[in-house]
Amino acid sequence: MIIKFKKNATDSEKHQLFQYLEELGIEIQPNGGSNSNQICIVTNSDQIDCQKIESYSSVERIFKTAETYSLAHRNSKQENTVIKLPGVTIGEGIPVVIAGPCAVENESQILEIARLVSSFGVKIMRGGAFKPPTSPYSFSGLEDQGLKLLDKARRETGVLIVTEVLDTGDVELVAEYSDILQIGSRNMQNYKLLKAVGHLNKPVLLKRGMSATLEEFLGSAEHILSEGNEQIILCERGIRTFVEYSRNTLDLNIVPVIKKISHLPIIVDPSHGTGRRDIIEPMSLAALAAGADGIMVEVHPSPEKAWSDPEQALSPKQFTHLMKNVTDLIEWRKTHAFAPTES
Ligand code: PEP
Ligand code: MN
Repeated sequence: MIIKFKKNATDSEKHQLFQYLEELGIEIQPNGGSNSNQICIVTNSDQIDCQKIESYSSVERIFKTAETYSLAHRNSKQENTVIKLPGVTIGEGIPVVIAGPCAVENESQILEIARLVSSFGVKIMRGGAFKPPTSPYSFSGLEDQGLKLLDKARRETGVLIVTEVLDTGDVELVAEYSDILQIGSRNMQNYKLLKAVGHLNKPVLLKRGMSATLEEFLGSAEHILSEGNEQIILCERGIRTFVEYSRNTLDLNIVPVIKKISHLPIIVDPSHGTGRRDIIEPMSLAALAAGADGIMVEVHPSPEKAWSDPEQALSPKQFTHLMKNVTDLIEWRKTHAFAPTES
């Protein structure tokens, strides 16, 4: 059984419940090393009086069985989770566009892109300062300097920033310079990192692992939720298949499935999902038609010169073309509410 505490429950309120459980001889699971103070797991719970537990002032609700993703499941929360940021919301029905370079390279590059994307009304810019390159000889980001450049772009243009955090030791630093922290595909199952961002009061963009099942993906979201952070945006970024014509296979099936079984918003990244700039626009449109809460695309002033992922960066001209069609589709979405469908 999972006991979920209210956000504002005090330690002494929780202690009263712990005492009651102790008197009954009921054990509290050490929670696999987690020291979450938002939930507790009770193992031998067959004899527990659920109503009595729920009557404790510290308790928000209980889940009789601890499923991999009890908190992320729609059963735990009927209404959609909406991420509220200054001037933009994610998950409320109107899709968002997140755009920016794969990596921050220098001041003029990031400022140029910030101005370009905001000229189309894009409110959130992406850009990696800490990059997880496949090869140790590839560009791994400007790190702290990159964060400062993102901050400069934020102050000069008003764009909000989403950027990746790779290491638990950098979580506070990245949080200081960004509005949304990204957990990349390679780190979807880095449970220490998930736990660290679970303690923040800041949105987290959780990318699907490149070979993660639905259960593993939502299980990772659960790790963040169980630490108390409910501001999660899921991101489908393509999975590994046998196809050789694209970098990954964009699994758009997962969009309506996630909308059905989870209350969390899901966006789609057709840049990493395809690895090909020539098919990013149609796959962006497909993602929005499938009900995604947004898209995230890579754009660069001179794609052929990009320091990372040059083959999937849109040129400003291609981005302009994409934004025209995406804007039309966003208008269409305003009149087409997606309700979970029957099985
Ligand atoms: C990224 O978005 O910068 C990135 C590295 O993507 P992924 O983690 O999906 O490979
Ligand atoms: Mn990239």
